[in-house]
Amino acid sequence: MGRALIVVDVQNDFCEGGSIPVKGGADRAVAIVDLIRRAQVGYAYVVATRDHHIDPGGHFSEHPDFQNSFPVHCVVGSAGSEFHPNFAPAVTSGAVDEVFYKGAHSASKSGFEGFAQDGTALADWLRAHDVSDLDVVGIATDHCVKATALDGVRAGFAVQVLLDYTAGVAADTTSTALSELREAGVALSGEPVVLA
Ligand SMILES: [Zn+2]
Repeated sequence: MGRALIVVDVQNDFCEGGSIPVKGGADRAVAIVDLIRRAQVGYAYVVATRDHHIDPGGHFSEHPDFQNSFPVHCVVGSAGSEFHPNFAPAVTSGAVDEVFYKGAHSASKSGFEGFAQDGTALADWLRAHDVSDLDVVGIATDHCVKATALDGVRAGFAVQVLLDYTAGVAADTTSTALSELREAGVALSGEPVVLA
């Protein structure tokens, strides 16, 4: 049984210059590409998730609370929905084995709500590829990384978050997220990156 790396939502709208910018996002994108390069023999697979909204209902708001509602972001076909240029080459070069799209008509913070273009759900894809262990990285620690790691545990995988390769929106929500992850049995390594 193998270990896979899940790269969560390294998209323009979640990096500097995007509609919900997370400080450090662009820099983490560089670090993640470096991790993939160095770890290529260590991971059986590398997959990426992508926020991919058409009409996600209350997930978008003109008066967002930044917990359950957010400014418009990652709309299908927009520049903001594209992978950040620091990360995109890993996808186009084939270093990323599959991309999972989530949130067409829902909030879908977790990558486990995502589907490959052939319709395969993330958990089914991982099981079909004999993956038992997951390392999770990406943006944002206190939102989609957290949700993806928690769902990974619920789906029966052994999950670790590599904090050096994540970026958090805020210190307080990241701290709360790390507590939730620990309680759920998610292993944490490295130091959280929160530049806000
Ligand atoms: Zn979203």
